[in-house]
Amino acid sequence: MSLEQIIRREIEQDGPISVARYMELCLAHPTYGYYKTRDPLGRPGDFTTAPEISQMFGEMIGVWVASVWQSLREPEAKLVELGPGRGTLMSDIRRVLCGIGIVPDTWMVETSPVLREQQRARVPDARWADTIAAVPDGPLIVVANEFFDALPVRQYVSAPDGTREVRVGVGTDGALSFGLGSLVPAGDLKDSWDEISPASDAIARALAERLELDRGAALVIDYGFGATDRPEGPTLQALRKHERADPLSSPGSADLTTLVDFDRLAAAFAPLPVSRTEQGHFLAQLGIGARAQALVKREPAQANDVADALERLTSAKAMGTLFKVLAVHSPDVLPPPGFEE
Ligand code: SAH
Repeated sequence: MSLEQIIRREIEQDGPISVARYMELCLAHPTYGYYKTRDPLGRPGDFTTAPEISQMFGEMIGVWVASVWQSLREPEAKLVELGPGRGTLMSDIRRVLCGIGIVPDTWMVETSPVLREQQRARVPDARWADTIAAVPDGPLIVVANEFFDALPVRQYVSAPDGTREVRVGVGTDGALSFGLGSLVPAGDLKDSWDEISPASDAIARALAERLELDRGAALVIDYGFGATDRPEGPTLQALRKHERADPLSSPGSADLTTLVDFDRLAAAFAPLPVSRTEQGHFLAQLGIGARAQALVKREPAQANDVADALERLTSAKAMGTLFKVLAVHSPDVLPPPGFEE
């Protein structure tokens, strides 16, 4: 049976399903889910994640972690990554920390068995958990790059007669198609559309509770928006082999993501102090320019590659402004670096 058949059967039995349920089946079905069956980051290309573009990205996050570590003054603090992909980011962070004599107890929160193996190859002494709640008590420094964008969202739009939830059903032509479900109370629907991720709200709240209770800080980097650059409509998109694809065709064979609503994420961390900026600014503040120069000095033949990577990570034309950075910390930790004007 294919994932599409499984989805069709569920729709036949229960009626059209929410976008969140559809995303969950496509990404996390135990047998056919996109992340469960393959290494989606395996082929470097135009659409790859920041840590796979250059070691400089992870090194700057390493500088950030080192600074928080010093402010936290907890030799037992755990370093935790949510959705570590191939383990590249953690391996780059740990190299920086090791250089200044810090070897933290490292935890990976990862549900994909395929990616756990990749992570083990790069960070053999890490430990794994399915959820943040399963990471043992104690102070934490958490990083999450392109994690929240992969969590399922419920999608709402305003129809002529009120707010309705978008659902996935079977159209008159027999293909999977988007349609509108019954009226829902508009409640806190933002604007004429909204995407709300119950999973990401729950994870952010669990993280905030942990940081309040056990102390520490978290860094979230993702493509997303705030009040000033909110897109005009829903943001669900599919990428198959690095190309834009129809999210409803061949379920389970494409990556499904949404832009992260950083205002909503920040609200879920309340009342903890939150700092926000854009990726280009953040990396520049942490010294990526100087790091690029040092790499070129050491290996002049790499000059073009280093310049390309720097451009992709920081320029407004590439990831520099579309990608947002949010830090949250317990009140006793100094405001983390990277967010100064
Ligand atoms: N951070 C990595 C990978 C991003 S892809 C990078 O920047 O390259 C998203 C990652 O989140 C994958 O490792 C995926 O398996 C993981 N993931 C998705 N949903 C998850 C969940 N609910 N719990 C834990 N990990 C999850």
